[in-house]
Amino acid sequence: MRFISTRSTENVDNASYAIVKGLAEDGGLFVPQFFPDLSGDIDKLCEMDYAERAAYIIGKFLDEYQTEELLAACKAAYGRFEDGDPAPTVKISDDLFVLELFHGPTLAFKDIALTLLPFLLRNGADRTGVKEEILILVATSGDTGKAALEGFKDQKGIKINVFYPSDGVSDMQELQMRSQNGGNVNVVGIKGNFDDCQTAVKKMFSDARLRTLLANKNVVLSSANSINFGRLVPQVVYYFSAYCDLLTAGEIEKNEKINFAVPTGNFGNILAGYYAKKMGLPVDKLICASNSNNVLTEFFATGEYDTDREFYATMSPSMDILISSNLERLIFELSGRDHKLTEKRMSELKKTGKYEISAEELSKLKEDFDAGYCDEEECREEMSGIFEEYGYLADPHTAVALKVCQDLSYGKKTVVLSTASPYKFTQNVLSAISGKRVKDAFSAAEILEEETAAPIPKQISDLRTAAVRFDAVIDKNSTEEVVLKFVSEK
Ligand SMILES: *Cc1c(COP(=O)(O)O)cnc(C)c1O
Repeated sequence: MRFISTRSTENVDNASYAIVKGLAEDGGLFVPQFFPDLSGDIDKLCEMDYAERAAYIIGKFLDEYQTEELLAACKAAYGRFEDGDPAPTVKISDDLFVLELFHGPTLAFKDIALTLLPFLLRNGADRTGVKEEILILVATSGDTGKAALEGFKDQKGIKINVFYPSDGVSDMQELQMRSQNGGNVNVVGIKGNFDDCQTAVKKMFSDARLRTLLANKNVVLSSANSINFGRLVPQVVYYFSAYCDLLTAGEIEKNEKINFAVPTGNFGNILAGYYAKKMGLPVDKLICASNSNNVLTEFFATGEYDTDREFYATMSPSMDILISSNLERLIFELSGRDHKLTEKRMSELKKTGKYEISAEELSKLKEDFDAGYCDEEECREEMSGIFEEYGYLADPHTAVALKVCQDLSYGKKTVVLSTASPYKFTQNVLSAISGKRVKDAFSAAEILEEETAAPIPKQISDLRTAAVRFDAVIDKNSTEEVVLKFVSEK
């Protein structure tokens, strides 16, 4: 299948090119030329296990692969999850379910794509004749960084450099990254927020001079952020998979439309749900949940995307984002795939910090989406309320989505995507459910375990004794130097 850019007529022969490049040369994002229709395949998918579902769905977009090849890769990736199930659904009440996506190696939903992306990238590079060393640049709001490091560590012919906002991640998230092992990894804090990291990384991608300097060292750039189609496509799978699981469990009827509520930051997760709907999954509404950084809530209400606002550092840091990159893919679809219009809006965003869609596009948007936000106090109340009422321990991101979907409730069954383990945010989770304020992340974890009987994951207990390997914190204008130095190291 061909992939086209959102900003010009630029296109590539197949997904492998799109995945290896990461970003189109015109600065746009790659999207599939069309969406395969799987509406007649739900029964078939219900018969399969997760890895088989993944290989089937991903194979529709990556038709340059043999099914067996993809299946072997999916089995290897998803075998790394607890109980071999990357996406179990938990029933909270008759019409509320939680899709737990955090049982992978780094305890966040990013693992679902990033356990598979190294295969897609390595294999894609070989298929498309890339001989150079690949340097992956990552901007992270906390979870992508660790999941990408874990996925790509010690991969042959690949190096990875992660940039995270030094004051914008939780203690556990930071320690997870700074203690990363592997000979091909680099982790650097940036003085600033996630948008500063993302902007710095995007700038390096479109910097011709840097690309030449790297080319002289036989290095090409690629991306593990959700701007990369290889990050999105594995995420489409769990929407189908959750639907099949509910159907099989008798919780929903055949063809019954359900809602998905998604804690949203860079818009990658929920966009995958939109793609699933376009592919024929019976979805009513996709509910976009934000924290106090509610630029998306406002956009869905008014059609104006305006980044001129205060930035809040919240206890759901992976959603502390003002510029949601993947929204570009959505407005491209809304515009009827008008690349000129999309390009115009994106350059407006860059110049003025805002853009607006038409009334017609806005009403199209509202057919598929609803949106809401919740502030810090409401998030705390939700964590404590859902624990008291249902005994369910949610992390702050999941709590935001739980709160928003209950506020909006429609009388349709709703699946809330749970994106991280509560043990990544121990101090805030503990204080919300018990009122106890504990400064140290590990002491908080122990008390949380005692109070809730939810076991501390091994990935967290192992961190306590892990050696910190990376402690650099730099100015946002110095990323290029860091990268050039890193590629020169053996
Ligand atoms: C990344 C992340 C999000 C946001 O997902 P997007 O795809 O960026 O919208 C939400 N919650 C957690 C825990 C995350 O790691």
